[in-house]
Amino acid sequence: MARQAGFHMTPEEFRRHGRELIDWLARYEERVESLPVLSRVRPGDVAAALPDLAPEAPEPFETVLRDVEQVILPGITHWQSPNFFAFFPANASGPSILGELLSAGLGVQGMLWVTSPACTELETRVLDWLVGLLGLPDRFHSSSAGAGVIQDSASSAALCALLAGRERAARTTNTTGCDGKLVAYASSEAHSSIEKAVRISGVGSDNLRRIEVDEQKRMRPDALEAALHEDRAAGRVPCFVCATVGTTSSQALDPLEPIGKICAEHGVWLHVDAAMAGSAAICPEFRYIQAGLERADSYCFNPHKWLFTNFDCDCFWVADRHALIDALSILPDYLRNRESDSGAVTDYRDWQVPLGRRFRSLKLWFVIRHYGAEGLRHHIREHIRLAQQFATWVREHECFELAAPVPLNLVCFRHVGGDAVNQALLDRLNASGEMYITQTRLDGRLTLRFSIGQTHTEARHVARAWECIVETAERSTGS
Ligand SMILES: *Cc1c(COP(=O)(O)O)cnc(C)c1O
Repeated sequence: MARQAGFHMTPEEFRRHGRELIDWLARYEERVESLPVLSRVRPGDVAAALPDLAPEAPEPFETVLRDVEQVILPGITHWQSPNFFAFFPANASGPSILGELLSAGLGVQGMLWVTSPACTELETRVLDWLVGLLGLPDRFHSSSAGAGVIQDSASSAALCALLAGRERAARTTNTTGCDGKLVAYASSEAHSSIEKAVRISGVGSDNLRRIEVDEQKRMRPDALEAALHEDRAAGRVPCFVCATVGTTSSQALDPLEPIGKICAEHGVWLHVDAAMAGSAAICPEFRYIQAGLERADSYCFNPHKWLFTNFDCDCFWVADRHALIDALSILPDYLRNRESDSGAVTDYRDWQVPLGRRFRSLKLWFVIRHYGAEGLRHHIREHIRLAQQFATWVREHECFELAAPVPLNLVCFRHVGGDAVNQALLDRLNASGEMYITQTRLDGRLTLRFSIGQTHTEARHVARAWECIVETAERSTGS
């Protein structure tokens, strides 16, 4: 039936289509395991299946949903497949998807406390819960001088931390700009977002010191200390150190105790980036990874990687909220309100780069309440157990070797046949559709990364993947 232009979806239609979409998603979860993990479309295929121009006339929802199935789905790489072992997980779950839907339905913009008190207060409360759940230092709890805030990504968290550290080290950078003297530090294995933050903040990538790592890819505290002394002696101003708990490449754990001591001596902002690995701290037996965090000025990890919360959701804490607010707050007249002026409330717009913000804490709240701490611990433990099992298989096979220690859920390994063999193996495995894994380079050699953390990954998926890897290697090397 043709529809008159300008009609909104009625509540009755919304109900019906909403149910159809939820059914579609439930069916997706049921069948995702059987789909080729890495999308098989070629560049331009999806675009070619879409019309050049937007529709002039309204279209029925059914045709849109049909195109989701026929045009969009083939162009999806299935991050939610239990056979997804690439990069890092981005694991979603039923409660997080429903929380996201609720956030969209309420359509709240939470820039100020007054623009939706629940958006601010639930966020603060859930981040306080996580301080307890992860065993984080009390200084990050909102009952102290610090507190937490949700950012879109670990990249944004690092940028905000750097801006706060920069402003604390040189009080006038926000007004007069950087003078080329400020210096930031991170290990040579730190995530690329640190270099991006250094560029955006005006510190400049020439002023980012990439600190040497040891044989296990951990930042060397003595090298950090030497770099700080050298810059000081040359009249430069160290303003920011980023330590990584679980590097992206190989899950190396920078030693926070000595790094924290050095930063405290030099009065430099210490940010700790635990984007993926931070989730492990929900289990007390893995909290050793964050030993020394008491001296950090800021900390972040991503529930949108490995805590069953769909993208985007990064939890970011600062020990001194005023250091962050001082760096980011600007108050135009049109945002003024009585509650903010009284100082009695938190306005999260001052804790991030954009003004506007989504109601992200809802999905995290749904996830934590659905699983409970014990449910979350159960799944994280299981992922780590599966990774350790996989590492054992690698160690015991004569044609394969581990390329790095395996503290948690990431296994870096390679075939002993050299780069060309590993590249061919990687390409064949990913083309098979059975799994998706990615690579990195460690000590100059091509290394395969097997990252476990998808919501529905079970022992049988990991066992099947290992079988597949061994068979494919045997077939291609003829051994
Ligand atoms: C994935 C990752 C990031 C980037 O995460 P985003 O949330 O996508 O910005 C930063 N640091 C580390 C160590 C990572 O593994």
